[in-house]
Amino acid sequence: MKKQNLSREEIQEKIKDVFSNFPNEKEIKNIKKLAMSKNIKLGDYKKKFCKKCCSFFNAVNSEIRIKKGFRVIQCKECGYRNRYKLKE
Ligand SMILES: [Zn+2]
Repeated sequence: MKKQNLSREEIQEKIKDVFSNFPNEKEIKNIKKLAMSKNIKLGDYKKKFCKKCCSFFNAVNSEIRIKKGFRVIQCKECGYRNRYKLKE
């Protein structure tokens, strides 16, 4: 990735952009790195891809279950179960 000198606002715009365009794993890894470098939290966008292999979830590669207050999204690309606490 090229060296970039973006402001926080520009990065937040970029994050929004990337996630609205069905990003691939490489794009997700890049945007994660970029966000981390500026201490920007991905927030809800974190639930849109697999924590382990960075695949963007869609109807085919993921299975969602609700279990004991958690939403569990199983990634069919790598088999990892991503758990997210449900908000009360
Ligand atoms: Zn995965």
